[in-house]
Amino acid sequence: MKIQQLSALQALLDTSKSIVVIPHQNPDGDALGSCLAWASFLQQKGHRVHVISPNDYPDFLTWMPGQEAIVQHSQSAAKAAQYIEAAELIFTLDFNDLLRIDALGPLVEKSTAPIVMIDHHQNPKDYAALTLSFPHMGSTAEIVYHIINQWDANAIDPDMASCLYTGIMTDTGSFRFPSTTPDTHRAIAHLMECGAPHSDIHQNIHDSYTFDRVRLLGMGLTNLTKLNEIPAVFLSLSQQELNACNYQKGDTEGFVNYGLRLKDIQLAVIMIENQREGKIKMSFRSKGGFPAHTFAETFFSGGGHKNAAGGVSFSSLEETKEQLIKAIQQWKNHFE
Ligand code: 5GP
Ligand code: MN
Repeated sequence: MKIQQLSALQALLDTSKSIVVIPHQNPDGDALGSCLAWASFLQQKGHRVHVISPNDYPDFLTWMPGQEAIVQHSQSAAKAAQYIEAAELIFTLDFNDLLRIDALGPLVEKSTAPIVMIDHHQNPKDYAALTLSFPHMGSTAEIVYHIINQWDANAIDPDMASCLYTGIMTDTGSFRFPSTTPDTHRAIAHLMECGAPHSDIHQNIHDSYTFDRVRLLGMGLTNLTKLNEIPAVFLSLSQQELNACNYQKGDTEGFVNYGLRLKDIQLAVIMIENQREGKIKMSFRSKGGFPAHTFAETFFSGGGHKNAAGGVSFSSLEETKEQLIKAIQQWKNHFE
């Protein structure tokens, strides 16, 4: 892929600047991987860079090179605000709507610094001076890879390669979602040549469960429910079940995918109760043509991609289940 706007981006970076790089709230492997690699590249080019995350991220990402320097707004609000205020340039990565960064949104809106969006979600909002939006790409990390590679292919060191590999791997479901292309594999091959320890990365992300997390998965799977005559399943975890397994942030990551392991199932949904915030966090995963993002947007104030989306419900877990079943029944013509 060729980045047509590279010269516009380079023009913004032609003198040394104070820069902040921001991932979305509850950053995942792609959000963190692309932010850390991009920040590292900018530092190499002589800029002063801070990665500012709206909040915390799961333990299975804390091995990522450079993450120790991330400022979390939820922990260090004053410091985060100060860096954003002082920024001469702001990058927002892996999201396209300032609502996705929670309390950082108003701080970014207040800033007079130009904003650059680098993202792969559909329908970008119009907040950036430069919008690098590629919805056909499987991950933001793959876009960042192309930008860096086109600009200076020798810049990718083993740490940057690890971060980009992680972002591409996590957002493509380890290279199996339809968004994975020959180009994705060429990028991955190059990142391995640049020193990404692929086997360690897979192990760090996927084979690092705590005993409690496996027990929680067991509970989730026990709750798996199939709809009558519709190729959809859902699972749920109540606050009580989460507490019983000493829930830690990130523990439920990937659980929803187990629903899609069933033959002929086209939609899997997980509902996770959060009593403290008074809401149910929902994730939607689909195979084939079922538009998970428009389903999430229509019924659960969410969005995302065709095959992977998220949303939220402010009803009780039981009510949410009933709403979900009704919504799926209403949309049964969208299944193939
Ligand atoms: P997850 O289910 O892993 O939280 O999110 C899957 C996809 O849906 C991600 O691409 C994420 O950006 C998007 N997503 C998750 N939650 C929301 C939400 O509340 N609103 C919107 N617009 N997108 C979401
Ligand atoms: Mn992403």
